[in-house]
Amino acid sequence: MSTPLQILKEKFGYEDFRFEQEKIIETILAGQDALVLMPTGGGKSLCYQIPALIFDGLTVVISPLISLMKDQVDALRVNGISAAYLNSSLSYDEQSAVYSQLLRGELKLLYIAPERLFNNAQQFISFLQRLNVSLFAIDEAHCISHWGHDFRPEYRMLSSLKKEFPNVPIIALTATADRLTREDILNKLEFRQPNTFVSSFNRPNIHYFIEPKRGYYSRLVDYLDKHRDDSGIVYVLSRNSAESLALKLSAEGFSAKPYHAGLDSAKRSRHQNLFIRDEVKIIVATIAFGMGINKSNVRFVIHADLPKNIESYYQETGRAGRDGLKSDAILFYSAGDVAKLKGFVTIEDNPEQSRIMLNKLSKMADLCENNSCRRRTILNYFGEVAADNCASCDFCLNDYEQVDGTEIARKALAAVAALGNRFGLLYTVDFIRGSKSEKIRDFHKPLLEYGSGSEFSKEDWLGFLKNLIGLGFLKQIGDEYPVLSLTEKSQAVLSGFEKVFLTNIVSKKTVSDSEKTFEKELFVELKNLRSHLAHQENVPPYIIFSDATLLELATFLPQNQDELVKISGFGEVKLAKYGQIFLETVTSYCQARDLFSRISEKIPKRFRKTKTEKDSDTKAVSLEFFKSGKTIAEIATSRELTVQTIEGHLAFYVFTGSLNVEELVSAEKIPRITAVIKQYGSDALTPLKIALGDDVSYGEIKAVIGWLRREGI
Ligand code: ADP
Ligand code: ZN
Repeated sequence: MSTPLQILKEKFGYEDFRFEQEKIIETILAGQDALVLMPTGGGKSLCYQIPALIFDGLTVVISPLISLMKDQVDALRVNGISAAYLNSSLSYDEQSAVYSQLLRGELKLLYIAPERLFNNAQQFISFLQRLNVSLFAIDEAHCISHWGHDFRPEYRMLSSLKKEFPNVPIIALTATADRLTREDILNKLEFRQPNTFVSSFNRPNIHYFIEPKRGYYSRLVDYLDKHRDDSGIVYVLSRNSAESLALKLSAEGFSAKPYHAGLDSAKRSRHQNLFIRDEVKIIVATIAFGMGINKSNVRFVIHADLPKNIESYYQETGRAGRDGLKSDAILFYSAGDVAKLKGFVTIEDNPEQSRIMLNKLSKMADLCENNSCRRRTILNYFGEVAADNCASCDFCLNDYEQVDGTEIARKALAAVAALGNRFGLLYTVDFIRGSKSEKIRDFHKPLLEYGSGSEFSKEDWLGFLKNLIGLGFLKQIGDEYPVLSLTEKSQAVLSGFEKVFLTNIVSKKTVSDSEKTFEKELFVELKNLRSHLAHQENVPPYIIFSDATLLELATFLPQNQDELVKISGFGEVKLAKYGQIFLETVTSYCQARDLFSRISEKIPKRFRKTKTEKDSDTKAVSLEFFKSGKTIAEIATSRELTVQTIEGHLAFYVFTGSLNVEELVSAEKIPRITAVIKQYGSDALTPLKIALGDDVSYGEIKAVIGWLRREGI
């Protein structure tokens, strides 16, 4: 019998497992239940598809979206795996053909919607009970929970699955689930074992750029012009903007179509299909677009208008780069959009819900305005610990210099003190700049600090103050109307003991293009060949091969079958079916240009270190050392890293659950640290450290933060 790794290679043509795929597959093969949380594009499907091929019987996949069922089944079939789906889009004859196949035991995987599983007095359940069912896979498992953002009543019935099939393991998969939802899934499905696998939600191949919206149109056109061969989505807020922007772009010669809820359904699905088949490159859409789309080669997602919250932003940008190749998420930001959206997110007669939504909107605005790594801000928002510098967002790609900001800091702190720690950010800025606005209280005007910083603009001051908050010299208190207040660090600055260094952008990089070392023209030829084959077989191009596979071909230029096997994505069946024709395209391209094979440059992933992989690897090494009994100081010394770095690594594993918080922090300190975190928040560590004093280390604080986030407290 083949091992999971052999099947990965032979059937799917991939070299290595990703994330925890292998562990998950082993758990399922041992007959246990498992809950899998992995980001979009992470590779959830293989977690049940590989067991399905190893088990004797049938794997039943429960999935809510009809459009995705067909996609998945097509993708399996081109890899030579027998799979089918049952839903209302099939004719009566087609359905009975599937039933006969099931009775003959010819199918390895069956995709089905939950309502179908349980309809007609459970006829279908009884039917399945007569077959040999080896595994149930429940996709989008968060739909079973009221706590999730996408509850579906028909998922509730899945609770009886364990009773009907007590001996069949269940694997539940989702890309979003907080702690409550997670527990709910385990309970509702009555899992025998609470095996839960949580992967990081980081999407390393998506590069984040946030730019000012002013004059964005020319930059948008510029970007699209440089990416004419790529597919992407431009999100806008209104139907009108979707229509007008699509028209404008078409007039400029781009291949663009609108998509929004106001179009009739025939037109909508026509535009969607053109996009999926690479026949239209750009979709200008409202948020109505995206659900149920599996297209793996979306290279960019652009927000011309601000999303309402970070959840939406993450979900929409997450539609880029499912194939793992570099993709861009670009957002054009204006404070005006925030004001516009406030009306949209306020829900009449529901002040509680409105407050939550407004708070989420302001977090979205913070992400755009703050001077810090975009990726880290997003991951922190979802309760994940992340590296300080991701090297792939506009902030981390910029060059900064540290400038002496002591004088500026003193003015700011003095102003906050003069205002009695009782006024917000904007008021403070107006006050420092000596604004003539009526908003400024009369009794504030005679103060010495009023107008003390008129030499800088409003934007400058907002930047300075946020910088000072980040450095712990100021803090914001209160949720709804936060006020600025001094911290314990402030006094040292005011009395001249401490210098303050602020960050200043030296060279601002905008949306960038990574250097490419592949044969561009060949890549285009290969894409054309793929489109041609896809057309013949009536499937979307990305089902034949992902962009990642074509890119490898155009990079490593394989010259024969032996070399071709080394290209990721060529499993046995695809090799036999498409190997020759792709090989011919590559070899004739190379002959015409005197190019040779570069396959020796392809190093198996196991031995390769890319930036982001290095990040997770280095964390894992620290964990291994720690588990082997080494102290943090010893690990730091032997790895030539700082103690802080190692502490950060270990805190990450407290968050993922691989370490218990008690392994890093003594039990009696935990309540004290927790209380201080609750008081000050966890955005800046320095104020926490000051409040806790010398017997608590930064590492202990980080570990408790990781633990609190994991517990969702
Ligand atoms: P998800 O369901 O988590 O959004 P998919 O299962 O659709 O993600 O996988 C996304 C893409 O990654 C697919 O093209 C899949 O074939 C590919 N993939 C999955 N696992 C691996 C792996 N171990 N190596 C290479 N590619 C993989
Ligand atoms: Zn970054």
